[in-house]
This record gives sequence, structure tokens and C-alpha cells, in this order.
Amino acid sequence: MNIHEYQAKRLLHSYGAPVAPGVAVYSVEQAEEWARKLPGPLYVVKSQIHAGGRGKGKFKELGDDAKGGVRLAHSVEEVVDNAREMLGNTLETKQTGPAGKQVNRLYIEDGADIDRELYLSILIDRATGRPAFVVSTEGGMDIEAVAEETPDKITTLPIDPVKGMTEADAKKLNRALKLTKQAAKDGLDLFPTLYKAFTEKDMSLLEVNPLIVMKDGRLRVLDAKVSFDGNALFRHPDIVELRDISEEDEKEIEASKHDLAYVALDGNIGCMVNGAGLAMATMDIIKLYGAEPANFLDVGGGASKEKVTAAFKIITADRNVKGILVNIFGGIMRCDVIAEGVVAAVKEVGLKVPLVVRLEGTNVDQGKAILNDSGLDIIAADDLDDAAKKIVAAVSEGKE
Ligand code: ADP
Ligand code: MG
Repeated sequence: MNIHEYQAKRLLHSYGAPVAPGVAVYSVEQAEEWARKLPGPLYVVKSQIHAGGRGKGKFKELGDDAKGGVRLAHSVEEVVDNAREMLGNTLETKQTGPAGKQVNRLYIEDGADIDRELYLSILIDRATGRPAFVVSTEGGMDIEAVAEETPDKITTLPIDPVKGMTEADAKKLNRALKLTKQAAKDGLDLFPTLYKAFTEKDMSLLEVNPLIVMKDGRLRVLDAKVSFDGNALFRHPDIVELRDISEEDEKEIEASKHDLAYVALDGNIGCMVNGAGLAMATMDIIKLYGAEPANFLDVGGGASKEKVTAAFKIITADRNVKGILVNIFGGIMRCDVIAEGVVAAVKEVGLKVPLVVRLEGTNVDQGKAILNDSGLDIIAADDLDDAAKKIVAAVSEGKE
């Protein structure tokens, strides 16, 4: 689960991390009211969407010359003008995909006098199985380019979860970030603070980009992106409260109600598969034959007919879907249950696109019989390769 920048900053501030004064607003009037309460003379108007790269993003409605999703303002009037331009419009960044995201909240923040922009994140390092800090002196809006072109400028420091973060660890980070004097003192406080927040709140990612050294030599968290481990949310009701479902994909919200492992993607072939590995392989083979999957979906092992029906409905509700591939290798999952679910769903919502079904395994004959007797227009496939070829061909025929 992701939260907005302003929520992340509030949370980190509650642990003692230095952040600027600021307030989240939903209207131009609020933007004006609150900007007047900030010290000035520099203000920053920041789009609150669940995606990074806002500074370099583009508002789709405003044309190429318009400024991005993070804007400096030198007076309350400029805050108001920017808020009016940004609210309600759609911001496209490297992380939103081509559809972009509508900006419904802004964060109005006190402007900082920046000396240096650094990068800092904490995540779970799969190689060591530990939380790790990733830091770089080259923070700011081009960290992806730094990672690609000069990876030696990035330092990774795994933390022993039993010992916790030590002063020696914090000093290593100070060295890697070339922090001295007051900034280094601030670092000795800040790094363990961030580590504490990360572990106590079961975060899967805590990214501060940029962490800044200000002209007065102090550190400040200038941007904050936090994701939480969904499996641990049950012990953090305070975090669940921060959820903004307007930022989430409607299909994914529906899928989560049915306990389905579903991820919406940009392609046009809907997939219903059992088992995460088989689902990944199915997506790969669709790509191999030149098409793109519309989703990842693992219906799981013991799915009921109702769950399969719900899954099929979510796939067909996606307007990008121009064909559906059902690929089931029945082990624990029974082919007849899948077939019943598919038939029930089609009866309810209809079937307007080609459907290829590959069934194998437990109760495969019953499954095939159910599909045959249903009178549905189904293209049967023998194996995964055959199934992928058939659905890609059917979808590209549909286009002509
Ligand atoms: P994003 O990463 O989504 O582009 P950031 O919050 O990192 O958004 O902002 C982009 C850039 O805007 C920062 O790298 C920084 O240079 C500038 N910036 C952001 N907040 C402030 C602030 N409070 N004061 C001064 N500059 C800021
Ligand atoms: Mg940033």
C-alpha cells in the first residue's frame, strides 16, 4: 500500500525527522488560506499523486510549455495561480504511465534553501535478506540516470536486523553522503530515526529523494515516498486509514475484495491462470508472440466457482481487453470448477472478445465437457504455446 508524500512526511515527522512546515489542500481557496500561514518568501506547490517524477511531469491538459507537477512560488498570489492551474488536471510522469493521474490534492510547503540534493532509501535487500540503506550524493530528479550510467555513485548498506542500526552504520552513511559538521550530526540522528520508522511500520520502501543539505548546513527530508507491506497492514490500523483508494486501480480494488492476486497492466490480452509462476510464464509467452498481457492474475489453488466468476468479470470489465486467455493446469485447482466459473460469468456479462481456453490436469474431461455443452464460442488449445499463438492471432484478426 502506498501513501501520499504529505502523509509520509507527517509520519516521519512524528518519529522526529526534519521536514518543512506544510499543509495538504483540496481547493484553491484552501491553498490561499494556508499559504498565508507559511513563513515564505519561497513556497512550493506539490501535486499529491501516488507516483514519483512529478517535478519533470507534464499536465496533459496544459500543453508542453506548462510547468511540471512541483512548482516554486515566490508569493501567495503565485501559489494561488499555480494551484488553480494544477488542481483537477492530469499529471503524466515517468511512473504514472501514459494515462497519467488526476491531481486532487496539493501540498503547499515552505521553500527550502538547498545546498545539495542527496538520495536515500531503505528497502529489503533480497540478496542479503536484510533491510538496506541505498544512498547517493547525486540525489534529485535524475537518480534513475545515475543508477544506469554511474552505478558506482550509489552505496548500499545492509543492516543487521538483530543488532539494529548502529552508530557505526550511521557514520558509514555520513561518509558515503560526504556529510560533515552539523549535517553529519543531523545524520547520526536521522538515519536511525528513519530505520526505526521503516521497521516499526513494516514499510517495504522508504525513499527520500531528495534528502537535502540546506544552506545553513542542516539536513531536511524534502520528498518522501513510502510503501507498506500489505501482509502486515492488519497490525497498523493507523496506516490503513491513510489509504487513498482514488489512487488505486478500480479493478485491483475489486480483485482485493475477492482475495484475488490481480495486477492491472497496459496490454490487451486478459489472462486467467492458476499459480503465480504459470501466470508469469503465460504473460511471457504472450509477449513472445508479439502481444501484451492486460493483467497478471493468479486465481489460486482452491478457488471457488464464485471466485472464478468474479475474476472473469474483472477481466472483461477492462475496456482494453481484446481477447482472453484462460490457462489452467489443474492440480489442487479443478478444471471443472474453472469451467463452471467461466460459463457463469459469461452468462452474466456476455462475451464480446475471443476466448482461448487451455485446460490440463485434475478433472480436465469434466471441464472440457462443461465448456462444450455451454454452447460458448471458445477456441480450445492443447498446450501453452498453442494457446498463446491462438489468442494473439485471434486478437490481431479482430483488429483488421
Ligand atoms: P518528484 O520527485 O516527484 O519530482 P520532489 O518532491 O522530489 O518531487 O520535488 C522535485 C524537486 O523540486 C526537488 O528535487 C527539489 O529540487 C524541488 N523541491 C521540492 N520541494 C521543495 C521545497 N520545499 N523547497 C525547495 N525546493 C523543493
Ligand atoms: Mg523526488
